Amino acid sequence: MSPTPPVPEGWEPLPDDHPLVRSRHRAGGPEPELITSVRSLKDLVDRALGRGPHARPEEDAGLAQVVAYPFLALVGPREVRLALLLAAVHPGLGGVLLVGPPGTGKSTAARAVTDILPPVPRSLCYYGCLPEDVARGGLGAVCEDCARKYQAGQPLAVEDQARLYELPPTIDLDALLGHLEEPPGRPPRWRKGLLAQADRHVLYLDELGRYPPAVLDAALEAVQRGYYSVHRGGLSITYRSRALLIASADPDYAAVPLRYVERFALRALTTHGLTPEERKALYWARRAWHDDPGAFAADYRAETQALQNEVRMARELLPQVRVDDALVEQALAVVAELGLPSARAEYAWLEAARAHAAAAGRVHVTPDDLRATAALALRFRQGDLTPQQVAQTQAAEARLQQALQARWPTTAAPVPPEGSP
Ligand SMILES: [Zn+2]
Repeated sequence: MSPTPPVPEGWEPLPDDHPLVRSRHRAGGPEPELITSVRSLKDLVDRALGRGPHARPEEDAGLAQVVAYPFLALVGPREVRLALLLAAVHPGLGGVLLVGPPGTGKSTAARAVTDILPPVPRSLCYYGCLPEDVARGGLGAVCEDCARKYQAGQPLAVEDQARLYELPPTIDLDALLGHLEEPPGRPPRWRKGLLAQADRHVLYLDELGRYPPAVLDAALEAVQRGYYSVHRGGLSITYRSRALLIASADPDYAAVPLRYVERFALRALTTHGLTPEERKALYWARRAWHDDPGAFAADYRAETQALQNEVRMARELLPQVRVDDALVEQALAVVAELGLPSARAEYAWLEAARAHAAAAGRVHVTPDDLRATAALALRFRQGDLTPQQVAQTQAAEARLQQALQARWPTTAAPVPPEGSP
């Protein structure tokens, strides 16, 4: 018997006596859908996406073929666009919570993010092997088949447009996490859940108050760690789940417990008022969008492509962006002054500031980066998210501005209020 083939990094090997492992050593086992003949590039892509005659409906769940509303056409609070841009530049930052009543464009904004995300590599292999696995762990970090393909110079993945996976509140845990399928007369096989499908894509939770705690706990934990394990019948498997997390919350609909609010690095308010000019622009944009989404999106295509390139360059720059120790100390002092108990506050703030610097093409964080990201990272860090908390935002942010001004005095004009151009 040949040795157990290596499993990709982050995966737990199945036990040797498991039927799935045994079948790997047998010709004609369940080794899935190796691409043996390719009629065209489209065919290759369709198969990689699970479309076409070989489509497996489970793997198509949530892949709605809708035209994303152009990110550049979003009208509304600047801080919403800023938060989403920072998350696009730094997907490891930890997610964005959009807070506001219905009809303030929360889900439109979340969907529009896919428009500016760089392409995502999509594995061509059942085991999810990616070129990055080889880069990190050598050929032993991918399955035998992919190791062979890599050595032969064949691709392990295709580039795929980033997608938005909306998490249905009624999803069951098997569909969310994945499960072991046991078709009669055939060896069992793991089926990916929605969280694994959304790896490197956007995972959207529409109205946090609608989700049962079990679903929220599992989803938020998995995305925060970047991986999760499923245990079934004495077996387990570990999936990657590095989705860009976006959620909306309307505290008037349901208060959101602090333990969930805390999971989001940034919290943007969608209610900071629109000027009459912006409302007019919004009306015309919506009309044009509803009349012909494709033509509307085409108007923004060139600029969107340029922005997508900038996001990609900022992502590449991000690892080089440094924060001076003195600046970290000052930031910690501000957090202490505001009495914020969780260490997540300063982590989110400093990382958001790094993303802000990278987006500006700089490799050093300045007080301006911290000023620009302070409210997004530090608000709603105490107590559950309730209508009262939202009502007190202005007073809380005045205190924040005083604390910032005390650390980094500036004679420059203060950041103009929301709604100004
Ligand atoms: Zn593989």
